[in-house]
Amino acid sequence: MSYHAPLDDMLFSLRLAAGEGAFEKGGLYEDLGGGVLESTLSEAAKLAAEQLLPLDKIGDSVGARYFDGHVTTAPGWREAYAQWIAGGWNSLAASPEYGGLGLPGLLGAACMEIWNGANMAFALCPLLGQGAIEAIEAHASDALKQAYLHKIVSGEWTATMNLTEPQAGSDLSMVRASAVRVEDGSYRLRGQKIFITYGEHDLSDNIVHLVLARLPAAPAGTRGISLFLVPKFLPGDNGRFIRPNDLRCAGIERKLGVHASPTCTMIYGDAGGATAWLVGEEHKGLACMFTMMNNARLAVGLQGVALAERAAQMAHAYALERRQGRGGASHGQAAARIVEHPDVKRMVLTMKALTQAARAICYETAVSMDRARRDGDRCRAREANERAGLLTPVAKAFSTDIGNEVASLGVQIFGGMGFIEETGAAQLMRDARILPIYEGTNGIQAVDLVGRKLRFDNGAALRRELADMWRIVEIGADFAAIDAVREAVNALDAASQFLLDADPSLALAGATPYLRLFALARGATLLLKGALAGDRQRAALARFFADNIAIAAPSLARTVIKGGPSLLEAGAMLDA
Ligand SMILES: Cc1cc2nc3c(=O)[nH]c(=O)nc-3n(C[C@H](O)[C@H](O)[C@H](O)COP(=O)(O)OP(=O)(O)OC[C@H]3O[C@@H](n4cnc5c(N)ncnc54)[C@H](O)[C@@H]3O)c2cc1C
Repeated sequence: MSYHAPLDDMLFSLRLAAGEGAFEKGGLYEDLGGGVLESTLSEAAKLAAEQLLPLDKIGDSVGARYFDGHVTTAPGWREAYAQWIAGGWNSLAASPEYGGLGLPGLLGAACMEIWNGANMAFALCPLLGQGAIEAIEAHASDALKQAYLHKIVSGEWTATMNLTEPQAGSDLSMVRASAVRVEDGSYRLRGQKIFITYGEHDLSDNIVHLVLARLPAAPAGTRGISLFLVPKFLPGDNGRFIRPNDLRCAGIERKLGVHASPTCTMIYGDAGGATAWLVGEEHKGLACMFTMMNNARLAVGLQGVALAERAAQMAHAYALERRQGRGGASHGQAAARIVEHPDVKRMVLTMKALTQAARAICYETAVSMDRARRDGDRCRAREANERAGLLTPVAKAFSTDIGNEVASLGVQIFGGMGFIEETGAAQLMRDARILPIYEGTNGIQAVDLVGRKLRFDNGAALRRELADMWRIVEIGADFAAIDAVREAVNALDAASQFLLDADPSLALAGATPYLRLFALARGATLLLKGALAGDRQRAALARFFADNIAIAAPSLARTVIKGGPSLLEAGAMLDA
């Protein structure tokens, strides 16, 4: 199993997304200039290669173990986590007020990609921590921030996200966990949460759970949900966090992939109620949780990019070595390397092109999030925030879909050996399968895109995005595959207009093909932009993407525009 962080590709994509002058004095990423970006990424890559990658396979084969309420992580995990904290990696983005370095999200995004490429099951733990830090920083009281943030920022304590219950998955209006306020202003929380990533483990002294629950007489639906902070250990008389809270892990799941990441059933309040504190206002918990979820959705998109990159690297290396078939050669000559067969070339190029397109979309999303937070110009910051909102579901769903497609192509290129665990191609495919499911299924991302994000400000964010794509098409008029790129943007334009005017049920029927169409047009234009700024190899890959992948755009647009009625009619038969 091999992986090296593709620093050249990453840096190229990062600089392109950040824009000209971004790393210079007065630019959005002034603090990453002077070599900070490059040196941080190469240190992150070193950590990935030396500490995380060697543990990936043992994590998969041994996995996390459960016994009597306790979870033991795989061999080597505790030591790697200690190294992670010692290196200060957990505190990159958090505010200096709580011990963070205050560095931009774009750097965090690139590091996330690297760590997930090396060991996704490990990286999942800090991934959730980053979202929790943002949610607590944005919404918790000063007292809570002072008590908990420093240690979560340093990584000494980890954090989790507790949304899901057996009857409440995509539909969080069905959350039943409950909380009541007590005299000292804290709450007592009861309920069961399932599928909680790193809900229990042996990596840190304390685990801080962010839990969605309902207060008595809360309004029905998602407007009646509140967010609570519930630590595993509470402060004792001496102020040290050693007093167990009323919560426990009742078991962990056996699952298809990410075996080393414990997926926990959590029981709160068996003995009267877990001590909890409100984060944000009563009944406004879902909005607070969304602070965490938007961050986490981009991070999950980057997990897709990371696994795709690793699968592409492994498959390409194998295709250069494995010899089968003679190609054009006559008898008696050595068999050809499989990479010489056009069908294998197509698979490797598809893997690389999809990965680069997804990476470009994710980095654009990260830059928009940073601009929304950092740009002093209020109008630009607001537009960037809307853009981040528009791109986040695309970044999450497209990158994780292609993570699966690319991992599956990787297995194909390995042939029979791909199906055998030894090569590691199968593990990537198993690990990738969760990505379109958690952090809001990809179906829900498509509904979010079409139902909410497209309609932001009467479609203004979408129009700005389309205008940017058209601008690139105009500048790239001489590009070899410009017709395919133009057709893709044209198709997106037409399908967008249709959806803005469509009846809601028809719009929802077209949501998933529309998200793919959006990603193909955005991906093709971003790769074209890269081709115009880059070398011949980049231009060749952009051309391949346009003529072989983005070419699906017109048929996706047709599905969006014409496919709805047949789906609704045939779908009615399924309701019975
Ligand atoms: C390994 C793993 C780790 C996880 N980690 C966490 C965690 O840390 N914290 C946490 O809270 N949860 C976690 N989850 C739970 C995960 O977020 C949910 O499984 C996910 O949100 C989907 O919910 P569900 O499983 O109930 O599926 P359902 O909501 O029942 O969905 C089933 C299918 O119906 C579709 N569907 C449902 N509603 C709609 C709709 N309105 N429109 C269109 N399609 C719809 C879905 O897209 C999906 O295809 C984890 C799950 C796993 C497996």
